[in-house]
Amino acid sequence: MALLEVRNLKKVYASRFGKLQVQALANVSFSVEEGEFVAIVGESGSGKTTLLNILAALDQPTGGEVLLGGKNMGTIPEKELAAFRRERLGFVFQDFNLLDTFNLRDNIFLPLVLAGHPHRVMESRLGPIARTLGIGDILDKFPYEVSGGQKQRAAVARALITHPGIVLADEPTGALDSRSSDELLHLFGEINRQGQTILMVTHSVKAASHANRVMFIKDGEVF
Ligand code: ADP
Ligand code: MG
Repeated sequence: MALLEVRNLKKVYASRFGKLQVQALANVSFSVEEGEFVAIVGESGSGKTTLLNILAALDQPTGGEVLLGGKNMGTIPEKELAAFRRERLGFVFQDFNLLDTFNLRDNIFLPLVLAGHPHRVMESRLGPIARTLGIGDILDKFPYEVSGGQKQRAAVARALITHPGIVLADEPTGALDSRSSDELLHLFGEINRQGQTILMVTHSVKAASHANRVMFIKDGEVF
């Protein structure tokens, strides 16, 4: 059984009065096996963020379904969705999405705090992740005190700390210079070799070349 299975996904954005319709996803089907590092490459406007938002259950598809670990995400009750998302999925965004009022350690702990884990668990999980990502000595710093590359590595740590089934990354190198991008992509490779399943969408063919398998998305179709 595939870890992630996407079947005939469609998304149409309609304007308020239904006059203007944009078909962001046409008929997308693919699957991701446990342990894979998959990249989906496409130009701006091709539907990448729409796809990831639906996979993250942050948005509803117009048609089709998404199964994660065999569970149809469309059947999860609204009130269980936030916990499901937090515990099963890790997210990495282009613009890091770190909270400026928290230091990096507390930003990384946030999903575990929300899930009600004891502090001891948080610390024991953080150790190996911080080592892999090379951020052990900057955990007391605030986001505005570190570089973009360091911010993104903290955001990756936050995505990994719940031990998610899959990490979803939306243009994770989009705001980084080329050296930090290369570093981050090598870390993705390393994390994947340690067993983490990763699905990344990007406009960069170079970024995608770090993945084990590359798909393309154009006009809302994946091939
Ligand atoms: P990408 O992430 O590849 O740049 P998006 O998924 O953001 O692509 O967008 C795909 C298409 O859907 C684009 O034509 C975009 O303008 C449109 N779109 C995205 N979000 C919305 C929205 N909330 N309302 C209407 N159209 C949208
Ligand atoms: Mg996008």
